Amino acid sequence: MQRLALAFLALFFFAAPALAQDQLMGLPPRAAPTAKIQMQQLPIVDATPKFDAARATAGYLARVTGPARAKSDAYFEGGYWLSLVDVIWTLGVSGLLLWLGLSARIRDWTAERTHSRTYQAILFAGAYIVIAFAAQFPLAVYEGFYREHAYGLSNQNFTAWLGDTGTGLGLTFVAALIFVPLLYAAIRRAGESWWLWGAGLAIAFQIIAAVIYPLYIAPLFNHYNALPDSPLKTQILSLARANDIPADNVWTMDASRQSNRISADVSGFLGTTRISLNDNLLKQGTPDEILAVLGHEMGHYVMGHMLRGLLLSGLITLIAFAFMHWGFRVAAELFGGQWQVRRVDDIAGLPLLVALASLFLFVATPVTNSIVRTAEHQADIFGLNAVRKPDAFATAMLKLSTYRKLEPGQWEEIVFFDHPSGRTRVMDAMVWKKEHIRDVDIRDTVSPQ
Ligand SMILES: [Zn+2]
Repeated sequence: MQRLALAFLALFFFAAPALAQDQLMGLPPRAAPTAKIQMQQLPIVDATPKFDAARATAGYLARVTGPARAKSDAYFEGGYWLSLVDVIWTLGVSGLLLWLGLSARIRDWTAERTHSRTYQAILFAGAYIVIAFAAQFPLAVYEGFYREHAYGLSNQNFTAWLGDTGTGLGLTFVAALIFVPLLYAAIRRAGESWWLWGAGLAIAFQIIAAVIYPLYIAPLFNHYNALPDSPLKTQILSLARANDIPADNVWTMDASRQSNRISADVSGFLGTTRISLNDNLLKQGTPDEILAVLGHEMGHYVMGHMLRGLLLSGLITLIAFAFMHWGFRVAAELFGGQWQVRRVDDIAGLPLLVALASLFLFVATPVTNSIVRTAEHQADIFGLNAVRKPDAFATAMLKLSTYRKLEPGQWEEIVFFDHPSGRTRVMDAMVWKKEHIRDVDIRDTVSPQ
């Protein structure tokens, strides 16, 4: 359903950095009581501890092997094909609505009910959302329920899944009933430059969605509670103060309602920003791993990634609307007669606009993924600098490998990954460690060598 509501494009950009899980990789590294002696001597040049970042990375990656590795690779690679299936399905639904004349008939039906163009747009949008949802429901069941269970990632029974899906449908419905009439009002007023106004409207919706998400949308799916007082919470808040983050609380959310994936996120904008970690991370991560993950999240906050994401998604939205403007003209010229849809201000052309938007977002996936991935990489480096626990960061990243391929090819990572791959993240951590290997808090820590 996300593809239907361009307004919620923003959610793709800020929706949570996912971090990891899986208890398959053994015990966390412990500090070994070695070599504290040589530092007294001068010169100290020869006392530099040796550390091979590439070997340490290979050692960590070797902890996830055999069936576990094969399963996460298969899950993630299957996702590539599913995104293709999704866009073909959306194009197919739009195509059927147009070629069978259904879209034109729904428009005529709305025109019989009311003379107001605004109410016609509302009626049409409502009918369209219901039809598109019904048409995509089988695919949604497979992707969101059956497949997640097949890979052991979901904790939800069908009823609970259906409840969440219904909530998502309700949100899309409400957003569409507000957005679509406004879009068509803009199209009627602005004429040829409608796409600029449409893009502006979509961007406004993205900003509103980003602001209200943590307070009004996220709680519809999960419960948020303040993390109880603990030494870990004290450490987290201290880390926040040290990095000038005005957080007086840390939130946990019951992500285990839906799945056993580990993650944390920073969401919200303009004063609604919140840093939260999910209960899976709390249960499956060591305190050091949790700190390492939250250092990453705080990086998003400190580096203003919310604003960056909004600006860049605004740019993508603008290009998307330019494409829709061009694409609509071409398609209506070719097939408008058969569809009984000739002008962009005809509400019966809505399925065409949705199809064009889906197609554009699909083709732009490598770009949007790279926009997000570069910010994630920055947050990784920030977290390493702030928390100084490269080994805990590495093991936390390994725990991601239940749902994200650990070692993709170079282009595979650029095209399909919205976070750096496990290999990249572990390597970043080990390079960081190598460059800090003389520091007293780092030099005695142990990595696989
Ligand atoms: Zn992140």
